[in-house]
Amino acid sequence: MADPFLSSYGAFLVDIDGVLVRGAEPIPGAAEAVAALAAEGRVLLLSNNSTRSRAQHAARLSSLGFPIAADQVLPSSYATAAYLLDEQGPLTAWMIGEQGLRDELEAAGHSIASSPDRAEALVVGMDRAIDYGALTAALVALERGARFVATNEDGTFPVPGGVLPGGGAMVGALRGMGFAPDVVIGKPSPIAYRIALRELGAEANDVVMIGDRLETDIAGGIATGLDTALVLTGISTFADVDRSGIRPTWVADDLAALTRGGARRLRS
Ligand SMILES: [Mg+2]
Repeated sequence: MADPFLSSYGAFLVDIDGVLVRGAEPIPGAAEAVAALAAEGRVLLLSNNSTRSRAQHAARLSSLGFPIAADQVLPSSYATAAYLLDEQGPLTAWMIGEQGLRDELEAAGHSIASSPDRAEALVVGMDRAIDYGALTAALVALERGARFVATNEDGTFPVPGGVLPGGGAMVGALRGMGFAPDVVIGKPSPIAYRIALRELGAEANDVVMIGDRLETDIAGGIATGLDTALVLTGISTFADVDRSGIRPTWVADDLAALTRGGARRLRS
């Protein structure tokens, strides 16, 4: 008999951190589960992690046992560059962020400003080397009217044994200076899902978003009209479903269980 979860969809959007890996540790059974999804439909990894480009994500995942091609990953670094190109054409940006974000901005045809007072946009993602000088430069860009573009606002992300500060910590530092983002690209923003559906060439009703975080993966998927599946290997727990009122279509202990008949349907 066809599996009720797998047979319901033609395409699968899958989060990375907390679903496939925790830090640099693959989650047991996740690689086989991705293969099972790929046998049923298209797979696109939709991640808020802006520190890597598509190519860097694919290389890292391949080294961890997930045979993923660069065009099967849609990180917020790529989505941000694509969104800005769609909306404004090539522009001059200042950024808080890491090499992968810079690579995607440049690959899309944007340029990095020679100084922050010349930037049309301030693009902010996770930056593990952020310091007072970086905040000062960002403030200069914002004071001069640069558009504040956040790759994502994840407060934390899961690693073995706990969590680390995410891109939301960088955005929060700028909020603390009195500036709110003009636009947020990553989940739960509908922008991320819109770009993902375009990449898949799929309609919302044929796609399920699989993630570990109710407020981003699941809430954004629901708002975009997708079915959603929560796996309990990352941030959110089953108790959080009742607490938050954010109710996924499916829940499973992990990605392996989701693809092997262990998906529990919570809503139709
Ligand atoms: Mg996650």
